[in-house]
Amino acid sequence: MTHTLTPIGFIHSPYKQKFAIPRQPGLVKSALASIEFCPEFADANSLRGIEQFSHLWLIFQFHHTTAQGWSPTVRPPRLGGNKKLGVFATRSTFRPNNLGLSVVEFVEVRQQSGKLSLVVSGIDLLDGTPIFDIKPYVPYVDALVAARGGFADEAPPLMAVDFLPAARQALTRFSQDHASLETLITQVLSQDPRPAYHGNTDNNKSYGMHLYDYNIQWRVVFATCVVESITKI
Ligand code: SAH
Repeated sequence: MTHTLTPIGFIHSPYKQKFAIPRQPGLVKSALASIEFCPEFADANSLRGIEQFSHLWLIFQFHHTTAQGWSPTVRPPRLGGNKKLGVFATRSTFRPNNLGLSVVEFVEVRQQSGKLSLVVSGIDLLDGTPIFDIKPYVPYVDALVAARGGFADEAPPLMAVDFLPAARQALTRFSQDHASLETLITQVLSQDPRPAYHGNTDNNKSYGMHLYDYNIQWRVVFATCVVESITKI
């Protein structure tokens, strides 16, 4: 009963490393990405009518962690990283078959220089993630208002974000290439991407993340993410 999956396309995402990617889709709305279809699936007919839907489901491979395998229990970051739950009771990346499922916002279909792409926003996917399937999000069946959210019933609290003058100057310098860089950094950091076991304490540790081709350094000071520098890689 083995079933082989072939990617229909690969995602171009601002998230170039796993660290700091939001833990679910929709949390960082400004994260724009495009799914570039592989030549054998690059047929615009397969997207006919898709613009009628505001949101789409993506089925993809956690390709970056596939080699690490899976185990029956995992430690969800939402529980501080110190409580174990069954893998099927979580959205962990370490699972049999390594399949991910994310609801994202439809932006547009693009056809440029012989390439077919689907632009979406609010993604939680690493750059280069293989996409296996795309389906419309259908609110009357998919949006269940009375559903229980278990240990993840509510969105986690947001962190305050601030930029030091040097980081502000860098934002101005890079604004021509990426006008929404400030919004993206702010939304990503407001999710507090620090490893769960660091809790909410200020530990004066410097962190770095890689968005587009920028290296962003920040520290947590008085419960605020303070961006210290933004440099081009
Ligand atoms: N919404 C999806 C993913 C939840 S886990 C689902 O429920 O199935 C989200 C995390 O997956 C991100 O924080 C990031 O660390 C990780 N991730 C994203 N793309 C990945 C990839 N291609 N390989 C491995 N991990 C990935």
